[in-house]
Order: sequence, then C-alpha cells, then structure tokens
Amino acid sequence: MPIATRAFAATSAKAPLEPYSFTRRDPGRDDVVIDIKFAGICHSDLHAVNNDMGNARYPLVPGHEIAGLVTAVGADVTKFKIGDRVGVGCMVDSCRVCAPCKAGEEQYCVPGFTGTYGNADKHSAQSGEAITQGGYADVIVVDQAYVLNIPDSIPLDAAAPLLCAGITTYSPLKHWNIKPGSKVAVVGLGGLGHMAVKQAVAMGAEVTVLSTSDRKKADAERMCSKHFLINSDKDAMKAAAEKFDLIINTVSATHEIASHLQLLAHDGTMVMLGLTTEALPVFAVPLLWRRRSVAGSLIGGIRETQEMLDFCAEHGLASDIEVIAPSQINEAYARLEKSDVRYRFVIDISKLDQAA
Ligand code: NAP
Ligand code: ZN
Ligand code: ZN
Repeated sequence: MPIATRAFAATSAKAPLEPYSFTRRDPGRDDVVIDIKFAGICHSDLHAVNNDMGNARYPLVPGHEIAGLVTAVGADVTKFKIGDRVGVGCMVDSCRVCAPCKAGEEQYCVPGFTGTYGNADKHSAQSGEAITQGGYADVIVVDQAYVLNIPDSIPLDAAAPLLCAGITTYSPLKHWNIKPGSKVAVVGLGGLGHMAVKQAVAMGAEVTVLSTSDRKKADAERMCSKHFLINSDKDAMKAAAEKFDLIINTVSATHEIASHLQLLAHDGTMVMLGLTTEALPVFAVPLLWRRRSVAGSLIGGIRETQEMLDFCAEHGLASDIEVIAPSQINEAYARLEKSDVRYRFVIDISKLDQAA
C-alpha cells in the first residue's frame, strides 16, 4: 500500500513552504521505510526552492539531510532492521552499472543519479508521484543500497546535516589527501564550512577560516581553527599568500575568487563547492606560476558517506545545530539567505502535527 505522507513543500519558485500531503511508494523487496525524525536545511534546498538552477519542479518537498528510524523492511533487505538509526543524503538511486557507480562514486553516475527530491521518480507507478520528494516529511521509502547507518554516539538531530554538508566536505579533504601538517583554508563558515573545519582539524591539518566579517571568529576558534581572515582585508590576504595546500570554498553566492588563488601554495588546489551559476573569473598567470588548480567536488559516494559517518563518530564530530519546528522553516530560510545560522537549521519532524 502506498504510504500517506505529511510534508512541507514549495508550490512555486520562491513561494513560502507550506504543509503538503502526498504518497510514498508501496515498499518493494529492497526498500527500507524510515520514520523521519530530523531533516537538515541545506543551502541547496534554498537554491532549489528559488529555482536558482532553473530546473526545479513543483510542488517541491526539499530535504536531503535525513535522519530517522527504520519502521519496516522489504523481504530482501539485509543491511537494516526495524529500529535501526539511519540516514539518507542527496541520492536515492543511480544506474549502478556505469564506471563511477561501480567505483562507489554514485554521485558522478554517467546517466545521472536520482536525487532525493526533484528528480523523475522511477517508482512513479507505485507511488503515484512523478518526481521524488525529500525529507521535510514524516516518512520516506528508500532502497537499502542508498541508506546509511548512523553510529549510536551521534545524536540523530546533529547527525542529519552530515548526510549532505558532512560528506560534501569530507570527500574533497580525502581526495586531496589532507593529513597531519596540511594547511587548509575554508572560505565561508556556514553549514558546509563548519564541517570542513572540524573534519580538517580531525585529520591533523592546520586550518584557517576566511569569512566576510569577524562575527564568527570566536566560533571558528572553538572549532580549533588556527587563523581567521576577513576576505575583504587586502593586507591580511597578502600576508597569507602561498600558504595553503587546499582551499575549500563553500560560498553560496557569486563572489570574487581571483584573490583567493594567490593564497595557494605550489601545487595547491581551490575546490569549489558552492552551487553558483554565474561565471567566476580566474586568471591564468597565478595558476601557471605555482601549478595551482581550481576544481569542483560533488557530495560523495554511498560507501564514502558511511566512512565519513564512522570518522565523525570516532572523532566525536557532529554538526552545530539550531533545531526548529516545521512552522519556522520560512523564517529559517530568510536567515540562511543572510548567513545568519550557527551552523545548520534542523527541522524537528515530530512537530509536524503542530503545523498542519
Ligand atoms: P550556508 O550555510 O549558507 O553557508 C554559506 C557561507 O558562505 C555563509 O555562511 C557565508 O559565510 C558565505 N557567504 C554567503 N554569501 C556570501 C557572499 N556573497 N560572499 C562571500 N561569502 C558569502 O550554505 P551551505 O549549506 O554551507 O552551502 C554552501 C554552498 O554549497 C551552497 O551554494 C550549496 O548549495 C552548496 N552545496 C554544494 C554541494 C556539493 O555537492 N558541491 C553540497 C551541498 C551544498 P561567512 O558568514 O563566513 O562569510
Ligand atoms: Zn545539501
Ligand atoms: Zn551510474
């Protein structure tokens, strides 16, 4: 039987989110039914609701930082049982046969992974829904291959943001081989940025935060970063020239990046994570002069996401969160737009009753 689901959705671009009901698919043999407890608010949700990428489909239930409990499993499910603490991130399926899928990098699936929300739903015949719908909802049905175990030591609310923010920063830190002694800069101290700081510190790196003001300086120090720069401070930027092996750029808006390239050491890389849609000018000379690179990185694969969750548990890491009721989502979006969040809004789904 399809599952009646209560949620919050945007019905058109930039519309406030409001209570919305739809059905999840009748669970199949490989499916896990998850009672959602908490859902993080990623800046990508805001981009999607605002249709910043130009491909949003409505009604749109955002949410790809999902934490909850298993309430039912299909006959062929071996990885999970009722009562397990689980998470779902940005992907709920992929082709499973292309080279990236086979390598465990489903995020780079050649025909494209199925996003947790806003993508054509392969199971529309069973769900009655044309597109996938996300985690600002009380239940979700997901194939076991795309469900993660949340270690017992991480509270579910603070674990939710790890499913997107946490893996999006962990994956490039691993890919660029961050290790004790590496020098890492993190641009933008938001949801992604604060996880990048914590993870890079746990990997033994010396971390510098670049921010637009000194409002978050004390927090950056609490997260054990060593240095703090305001990126409009030309003298401070000059003094930091050639220092960093890796710059993790998490800025969510179009911004000037040319000055940041000077901060890279020989063979250094600036990896862009923000979903900015306008061109960001770079100049060849600072790149070729020190064989610097500008790169991008997209979330992380399922296997790596589990590795990240286990890494966070081992090092006592989780997201700094502000838990809100569903009725506060629109207020939270307005604050996120102004970078006024420390450091992730997480929706308490148990309060959905009070909103509907
Ligand atoms: P967030 O919590 O809003 O943090 C973004 C930070 O960027 C802000 O806290 C602010 O930091 C800085 N910032 C914002 N506007 C700026 C501007 N105009 N100039 C300079 N700095 C500015 O967002 P998030 O959830 O971390 O997401 C960050 C970006 O990554 C978003 O675009 C999101 O869609 C994208 N994303 C990408 C992936 C991926 O797979 N690549 C995954 C998830 C999210 P300060 O206050 O410190 O200045
Ligand atoms: Zn996200
Ligand atoms: Zn694939």
